[in-house]
Amino acid sequence: MKMLSGKTVLVTGASRGIGRATALLAAENHAHVIINYNKGEDQAAELVDLLCKKGFHSSMIKADVSSEDDVKGMFKYIKENYSKLDVLVNNAGVMKNSLLALSNTELFNHTIDVNLKGMFLCTRHAANIMRKQKSGRVINLSSTAGLNGDVGQTVYSASKAAVVGFTKSAAKELGMYGITVNAVAPGLIETDLIKHIKADVRDKMLSNIALGRIGIPEDVAKVILFLSSDLGNYVSGEVIVVDGCRIM
Ligand code: NAP
Repeated sequence: MKMLSGKTVLVTGASRGIGRATALLAAENHAHVIINYNKGEDQAAELVDLLCKKGFHSSMIKADVSSEDDVKGMFKYIKENYSKLDVLVNNAGVMKNSLLALSNTELFNHTIDVNLKGMFLCTRHAANIMRKQKSGRVINLSSTAGLNGDVGQTVYSASKAAVVGFTKSAAKELGMYGITVNAVAPGLIETDLIKHIKADVRDKMLSNIALGRIGIPEDVAKVILFLSSDLGNYVSGEVIVVDGCRIM
């Protein structure tokens, strides 16, 4: 028996990085996975193809999570093609490092629109389905930047700190329907998101990780799997840090 047998799982931003690893692990645990993407159509198609070759069921749906119309369309597709939604992973996110003095309103709006509004829109639609089922799991991607802050990350940190407040409130509101809402806060994970970080900065960050290595997407996907499965039945309103233990 696999951990997500018979479950329908939507992962936003599943074309790359943590979202891709999460979708792959969910499928390997026998979930029906819905792979959301925005710009990465080829990468999403490649993942669907890979899952199909492994004998797993999945589908892909394009939607910009910051667009109300796109999200509405995505959930219309889910209702029409799947009779239920058991797990929503709000993973889609953007990060651009910028010192406060250099951060403009455009950067602020885009970051908040994708990282916060996107999560809000998807959760609202998912909760409508999950309330009727009287069950569901919502897992939101926060970040250690949202808990501790960092230089050059005022905007990104604000968006990820807001994810924590949203998660805790939604958990309290939706618990009565058997819906759990949790956040995962990764530290430094090897994906496209951190590609731009200079070698000397990376080395400095690495020296601050007790486990002595940068995380990989699968490290985060495993925690998301736990929260999505029966193992996480009685966990809600929590933020689980996945950062290899920051020393200072
Ligand atoms: P990534 O490799 O850059 O992937 C980002 C994903 O988000 C892509 O699949 C991208 O899809 C999707 N996305 C971006 N904008 C979107 C939009 N408007 N609508 C729908 N999808 C959109 O990033 P990652 O490192 O895997 O990050 C995943 C999540 O973990 C993010 O929320 C991030 O903030 C969080 N996180 C990451 C780290 C880290 O060190 N990597 C640390 C802490 C938190 P397309 O390519 O299809 O557009």
